[in-house]
Amino acid sequence: MTSPPIVRADGPALARAAALLRAGRLVAFPTETVYGLGADATSDTAVAAVYAAKGRPTFNPLIVHGADAESLRRLVRFDDRADLLVARLWPGPLTLVLPRQPNCPVSLLAGAGLDTLAVRMPAREDTRDLIRLFDRPIVGPSANPSGRVSPTTAAHVADDFDDTVLALILDGGPCPVGLESTVLDLSRPQAALLRPGGMTLAEIEAMIGPVALPDSDPEQPMRSPGMLASHYAPSLPLRLDAIDVRADEALLAFGARVPPGAATMLNLSTSGDPMEAATNLFAMLRALDRPDLAGIAVMSVPDEGLGQAINDRLRRAAAPRG
Ligand code: AMP
Ligand code: MG
Repeated sequence: MTSPPIVRADGPALARAAALLRAGRLVAFPTETVYGLGADATSDTAVAAVYAAKGRPTFNPLIVHGADAESLRRLVRFDDRADLLVARLWPGPLTLVLPRQPNCPVSLLAGAGLDTLAVRMPAREDTRDLIRLFDRPIVGPSANPSGRVSPTTAAHVADDFDDTVLALILDGGPCPVGLESTVLDLSRPQAALLRPGGMTLAEIEAMIGPVALPDSDPEQPMRSPGMLASHYAPSLPLRLDAIDVRADEALLAFGARVPPGAATMLNLSTSGDPMEAATNLFAMLRALDRPDLAGIAVMSVPDEGLGQAINDRLRRAAAPRG
């Protein structure tokens, strides 16, 4: 297995990446959240290659990335709530699910056949330059096999894909947010959170008022397949809310007060900063997911702000595998 070339995300590399996208190939790119597996959103074959590469259930729709709000308006119908959020919170880790425009050129496969589409404007200038050079929207699910830990460095991506599926990896350094985007459903009168992520609920509610939470209505059919319980699982079992650590476990710690006796330990944030913890989360889960260990003991993270998204990921990672 040969790894794809990793190149720094500068001008010539972006031009090379755009040419590869035009040829229907897959290119991994950095964003402020996690690394994305990029492909031409208007090409069914390119989108199918993304599902194949990820081994992703085909009912799990992909997020479409645009260089600016104007180009995304040609794909989906923005309403007043979307306009407010976009004016204040874009670019940033906020994905909006909106009704497709009648003449929307995005592959139906990308939206898993739904009449809605998830759209986002990533914060990094180089990511948007790539989309501008390509001159079409790109799909960009996290660049990891489905159900595994999301990549927050170029090296993580290279661990998971060879050059037969992935043509190029644009290296933009470690992702500053380190969590996927928050997914907000605005396709109905009641705004609903489909996935907690890098943008906090408080920031969103300050703009548009109360947002329905994922589990507030158990009668609702599951709207966002990414909410599947075991979606973010490392190979080892996770033991949550750990206050001690066993001899055969690794410890994923949080804060300054750490139980003694861990042979293998990483700390999400010694100062107890949820931002720092989010940035470290996936990289540390990966690093601790070692075959010579029996499990990962995870200390609790306060369920506030980005802590909610972290706990959401941890609960999924700890859920029984189905
Ligand atoms: P990822 O591409 O790995 O960041 O995951 C995308 C997330 O957005 C998943 O949780 C999807 O289920 C969700 N998503 C994407 N498009 C839609 C849509 N049209 N309706 C509901 N959820 C969506
Ligand atoms: Mg993902």
